[in-house]
Amino acid sequence: MLERTSGVLNWEMRTGKTRTTLHAHNNRLNAGRSRDLVVVGPSTALGVWPEEAEAMRLGLSFVRCYGTKESTRRLVPDPTNWPDWMPRVYLINPEILPYWLGWFQEHLEVEQFNLVADESHVYLRCTTGQTQRYIAFDALAKGTDRVWELSGTWYVNSALDIYWQLRPFGSSNNPFFFTKKACFKAPWAKDRKNAACGRCFACRYCNAAPNPFAQTGLSYTGIRNEDELWAKLPNVLALREEEVRAIALPDRFPVWVGEGDAAWPDADLPDSVLDAEQQALVPAKIRLTQAYLAQLRAGELAYVERPDRPLVEHHEPVVIFGWHRAYTEGLARVLDCPVITGDTSVRDRDRIRHDFAAGKLPLLVGNLQSAGLGIDLSAARWFLYGEPRRDAALHYQAEARGRGPKQKAKTLRHAYLLIRGSVDATIWRHRLHRGDDIERFYTAGRDVGREAGGRFLEEVR
Ligand SMILES: [Zn+2]
Repeated sequence: MLERTSGVLNWEMRTGKTRTTLHAHNNRLNAGRSRDLVVVGPSTALGVWPEEAEAMRLGLSFVRCYGTKESTRRLVPDPTNWPDWMPRVYLINPEILPYWLGWFQEHLEVEQFNLVADESHVYLRCTTGQTQRYIAFDALAKGTDRVWELSGTWYVNSALDIYWQLRPFGSSNNPFFFTKKACFKAPWAKDRKNAACGRCFACRYCNAAPNPFAQTGLSYTGIRNEDELWAKLPNVLALREEEVRAIALPDRFPVWVGEGDAAWPDADLPDSVLDAEQQALVPAKIRLTQAYLAQLRAGELAYVERPDRPLVEHHEPVVIFGWHRAYTEGLARVLDCPVITGDTSVRDRDRIRHDFAAGKLPLLVGNLQSAGLGIDLSAARWFLYGEPRRDAALHYQAEARGRGPKQKAKTLRHAYLLIRGSVDATIWRHRLHRGDDIERFYTAGRDVGREAGGRFLEEVR
């Protein structure tokens, strides 16, 4: 689909989006339909592109743009001696894009390049609209029919964020191109003359709220008529195809850390039974989690891709999720590390969260629900799950905590510690690993991305 048109890739997995886009570009390149690729994005996001292209063995040549003034502008590496026909991938920060616009317009051939806005919500949405970087991106976008925006948090404050991000697609790919943006009239006004129109984008898809600080006396927030909005954007929600799913899953694997004695029936059992049985496993689970952690740090695991080297360095943070109080608190005592459960006070929670993000804590134990929602755990790349729950969505939300914009690792590791021949096997086989639950994972993750992800990004940037 991307190869045919402009669109937004709107899912959480960072490498999935990058790879899909590179794949689409490469196909167009091989078919002779386009030559260059321009990737606009924050520095942290740009670093991923050459790495992924290499992992995919695409053989693309990357050039990074630096500097603002004509005298300081430079390309690294310097492509001066490259043959003219050689395709290039330009990487550039949105901040300096305005200074490079003229150069690009001179050096790129119209309709012969694809344009990517990575993390587009950071610099192309409502509050950043009409800035120099927005205008520059929009101008550059006029030169191509293939504008691909990548964002896991497509709207942050209001549906107007979406309106702005759609603009660069131009009239043929943006169904709202000719729609009036906002009338800025109050829906609560009594007289006809000042009443809201009901037809503009803001009236239709946002909530109006009084705002005495705004010139217009109101501001638009949130999103409404959401189903209708999505329905009008079929080229926008290019949600994970098979290919992406295959990339996303190997980072999440079951580890059989012990042997149980009961042979569990191959059936879907009631939650109460599963829960009681899992509670009984807590002492064994604490021991096994300790042992597994020690093995990770010693590099003694059989499947290690780099033999003789520890998978986790001693100072590298690891997050361990559990469910039962006996497990989380018991483990925290044994490992002498902080724990976040439903009982943790807001103050303690904030302090732990802050210390963890700052890299001061090598270990953190948390309850899947209390620590698995709304906390940035992107300082870690290893996540252990000592007590898998039947609720796949809960796990997906917890897994998503590691995918903040500060995440430096290319792959996150989610290891599920299970006891063979125990109730764990039943949970894994029947509840967690089932295809439809994995599907639910993604839906839940997307929703969480919209709610928590939006706020979170606001905090960080
Ligand atoms: Zn209106």
